[in-house]
Amino acid sequence: MDCLFCKIIAGEIPSTRVYEDEKVYAFRDINPMAPVHVLVVPKHHVASADEVNTANSGDVAAIFEAIPKIAAAEGLTNGYRVITNCGEDACQSVHHLHFHILGGKKLPDQMA
Ligand code: AMP
Ligand code: ZN
Repeated sequence: MDCLFCKIIAGEIPSTRVYEDEKVYAFRDINPMAPVHVLVVPKHHVASADEVNTANSGDVAAIFEAIPKIAAAEGLTNGYRVITNCGEDACQSVHHLHFHILGGKKLPDQMA
């Protein structure tokens, strides 16, 4: 499958890994928007939040179990933001479900 994040998970494209378990891979965003900017993805391909269903929601649960561990490892003791862009209006650019963890500074309170 021609998917950038599947290739990153497979190790075919390099990434800076920050966390990995059976279901989840997390790596640094190549174009960081904050001092800490990590992408958390399911190892099994899911296109977007709009594709979450009973068959793959366990992967999403695993992601949200990993997020506090990643945040702690990154030193985000004062809070952080978790975002997923879904589809055209949200400007999703990579069509493999991913959650941005942003932190390490006071983030703008406007999201849109
Ligand atoms: P989105 O716009 O929500 O689909 O987010 C895609 C994110 O993937 C952007 O923040 C990009 O900077 C990031 N990105 C694209 N290519 C890479 C890559 N090779 N390694 C790490 N992050 C990437
Ligand atoms: Zn993929």
